[in-house]
Amino acid sequence: MSGMTPEEFRTAGHALIDWIADHRERIPDLPVRATVAPGEIVAALPPAAPEQPESFAAVLADLERVVVPGITQTQHPRFYGWFPSNAALASVLGDIASSGLGALGITWQSAPALTEVEVVVTEWLRAETGLPQGWRGAIHDTASTACLVALLAARERATDNSEFGGGLQSEPAPLVVYTSPHAHSSVAKAALLAGFGADNLRRVEVDPTTYALDPAALATAIEADVAAGRRPAAVVVAIGTTGTTAIDPLAEVVRVLDRVPGRAAAGTGAVRPWVHVDAAMAGSALLLPERRWMIEGIHGADSLSWNPHKWMGTILDCSLLYVADAEQLAQVMSTNPSYLRSSADEDLARAGVPQYKDWGIPLGRRFRALKLWFHLRLDGLEAIRARLRRDLETANWLADQVRRTPGWRVLAPVSLQTVCLRHEPPGTVTAEGDVLDGPALDAHTLAWAEAVNGSGLAFVSPALLDGTWMVRISIGAEATERTDVAALWDLLQRVVKNNL
Ligand SMILES: *Cc1c(COP(=O)(O)O)cnc(C)c1O
Repeated sequence: MSGMTPEEFRTAGHALIDWIADHRERIPDLPVRATVAPGEIVAALPPAAPEQPESFAAVLADLERVVVPGITQTQHPRFYGWFPSNAALASVLGDIASSGLGALGITWQSAPALTEVEVVVTEWLRAETGLPQGWRGAIHDTASTACLVALLAARERATDNSEFGGGLQSEPAPLVVYTSPHAHSSVAKAALLAGFGADNLRRVEVDPTTYALDPAALATAIEADVAAGRRPAAVVVAIGTTGTTAIDPLAEVVRVLDRVPGRAAAGTGAVRPWVHVDAAMAGSALLLPERRWMIEGIHGADSLSWNPHKWMGTILDCSLLYVADAEQLAQVMSTNPSYLRSSADEDLARAGVPQYKDWGIPLGRRFRALKLWFHLRLDGLEAIRARLRRDLETANWLADQVRRTPGWRVLAPVSLQTVCLRHEPPGTVTAEGDVLDGPALDAHTLAWAEAVNGSGLAFVSPALLDGTWMVRISIGAEATERTDVAALWDLLQRVVKNNL
């Protein structure tokens, strides 16, 4: 045997688990932001691969010396950047189990358990998030991939499966995709990669105070496209936009689409535009019955994706894509070369068990369901729900402090766990919040955000809102308690006075 033996693995593996446990314990003492400069890690590593085996101790030493400083500690209790990117230890165990099994998921036959555990956990979470009965889910790597898959299915439905003929290149009129200007960048990327073209991606206006998509503006945009001979093909609705966690009004979008002019126009092959719900970040909150209103109207949608790998905390990568019509999806994605066919295919269809290769892009799939299965079984939904509620309350608490403090402003509704705020020095804005001196305000905001991040004491993300910089405080790391957010609020008030 040329590689590591199971016995050598046992020894090294125990050492690695000890190292991970120790690492998790000391994270609160580490700087939150990575402390390396670009190129520093490349320079610290040899230019060529080793010919001879090295000791595990040497590898572990480099993990400590080279890798740890090169990581922004998203598991840190004072990580408030981008979005929660939790890696619950229960799910880490599932990920290790998946790697240890070394299963290959290419067809049901190659690892029936890989498929069927995924059927079970996706169905558990369908029910727990209030998605319609009959919708079926699969695990993808990311919400970006899920959105691409949804838009490919939308394209094929709108073109009566053009892929099997001339494809988009033979379509008589452009197909149009609609979304909010606040939608995640992956939505535009998916629309471009699916071949719709940037000219056919409409950024529908939003409500100026809630930043949620304006259904009247959607109706107007659709009418204009139909009048010009173009064909509305898909709407991507954001439940929890990336900037401000705005919640687009799904039920109203569905009502607009029910009235799409020309929808049934004879001979055009026009079908109802596909509705994909991008709930990558906010989907975790659907585990709370009191938040199900966010997807009111879901019965009129076609697909929804969310990331257990964000706030809920199943380690990356674990994104769920649910579709109302799994058969249609399989038609779009299916390939059936002879070496993958088997006599079990008919039994599978009869048992209602999917060939997941036909539900997405890759053929070979990891046993990702295990990390979700471990996470749900070892932590339990009750504790996960309690943590999500804690974070919602903490965000409201912080917003209250900010609103009460002169010189500070909360800039968007706190609809989830993110608070968008700004400190406004005298003369930079009016009492109503209209910006008087944008450059001075931006310079101030970016300077204090960098001071916070550079201190290593906390990590926040600046972002543009209505053309001006603000700072997003995204609460939801597993370790973050109210006391951590109180400490952050103290830090922010000190840092704007240059008094760290
Ligand atoms: C994070 C996020 C994405 C992208 O998620 P990935 O899984 O990293 O591709 C897409 N949409 C929204 C709303 C998000 O919050």
